[in-house]
Amino acid sequence: MTHNESSAFAEVNQKVAQAGEILGLKAGVVKALSSCEREVVISIPLRRGDDVDVLTGYRVQHSSARGPRKGGIRFHQDVDLDDVRALASLMTWKTALIDVPFGGAKGGVAVDASKLTSIEKEEIIRRWTRSLVHVLGHHRDIPAPDMGTDAKSMAWLMDEFHRLEGFQPACVTGKPVELFGAAGREEATGRGVAMIAAATLKENKVKVEGATVAIQGFGNVGRYAALVCQELGMKVIAISDVSGGIVDKKGIDIKSIFSHKTLEDVQANERIGAAEVLTLECDILIPAALGGVINDSNASNINARFIIEGANQPITIAADRELRTQGVLIVPDILANSGGVMGSYFEWTQNIQEFSWPLEKFRRELDTRMESAFINVHAVSKKHSVDLRTAAFVVAVGRVAEAFELRGSLV
Ligand code: NAD
Repeated sequence: MTHNESSAFAEVNQKVAQAGEILGLKAGVVKALSSCEREVVISIPLRRGDDVDVLTGYRVQHSSARGPRKGGIRFHQDVDLDDVRALASLMTWKTALIDVPFGGAKGGVAVDASKLTSIEKEEIIRRWTRSLVHVLGHHRDIPAPDMGTDAKSMAWLMDEFHRLEGFQPACVTGKPVELFGAAGREEATGRGVAMIAAATLKENKVKVEGATVAIQGFGNVGRYAALVCQELGMKVIAISDVSGGIVDKKGIDIKSIFSHKTLEDVQANERIGAAEVLTLECDILIPAALGGVINDSNASNINARFIIEGANQPITIAADRELRTQGVLIVPDILANSGGVMGSYFEWTQNIQEFSWPLEKFRRELDTRMESAFINVHAVSKKHSVDLRTAAFVVAVGRVAEAFELRGSLV
């Protein structure tokens, strides 16, 4: 199916078209890569008291050119088909960029996860799995957690899948470590962000030791990014969450606050607003909370040399343009936060081999692969004289197009 309307999916496809132009791809190939292979929409009846609510669920499979489709399942009230298409295609580009043998997919249910009981959540996940089992499987399409779902949800998904298809733990990733999950998967996205921050500093001849870092977000991505930045010798001078931010120019000891669920109850000399962290003077800024936080209203006040996109799409298109004019170097989300899907690949491969890696091996593999992905994107940006975001799409689209043509999909 192809879609031309102005939308989140159309925005991603603009980057695909730009990469196609740089690579000199055939128009038909670009068209194929801008379409989704399969879209399944389901209705999920949910018991509510003595009545029934009917939710809408999705699974969009964008591409299988480079391997089984891979992507999370999101429970959020704003989930719609266009969003799921955009996110599914971003997974194709992310998996190709970091060179893991997956394609791209995404799933979701339009529901406010914060208003669900645990039993309702389990019922929805099981129903979603039953309705989609024919398109899922460890060599077809492998879901993972996303907004509103977690390791526990993936355990229910795996269990439902096993009832229908038999034992196959690699059918889903992001599972609890105690149930075929992988040690290291939880920290993988944040760790990857920190490794990319270090690689960016090195590439730009800035000393990693003592480089200053400001981070928005103290959730899964932000807190692990902060911890690993500190371990690598950087100085985290500010961090914020939805409750506000804390600042210490001498460097915050992230280890000592790591166990706090939020920053609200952390002792600090200086407090700032949740968004103020974005405009502090620092070497590295890591937005790791929400999308669209760097926009027309604050782009001209950014005081960082480098921005590493921990969150998905934290910078609007207009702000991205303005920041590049100001000379700020931006490492795009599809590279910077790809440690999560890299970790999912490690979990999948361990499940298939029925063999567990020690945590150290997981970390070593992740660190090496993140760094080499960065070096490659950097080299491509120099070769074509383009920004890192465009270069990342050139690498990813080039790899998928090559696989697509080699498969003979045009005949
Ligand atoms: P999370 O829910 O664990 O944490 C989000 C954090 O953002 C929390 O600390 C929250 O307090 C904070 N926050 C919310 N609103 C805020 C505001 N207005 N100002 C400042 N902070 C605010 O989420 P996460 O898993 O860490 O994901 C963060 C981002 O990274 C999202 O954009 C997500 O799509 C993206 N991402 C996550 C992963 C992953 O593996 N978790 C992988 C790739 C991309």
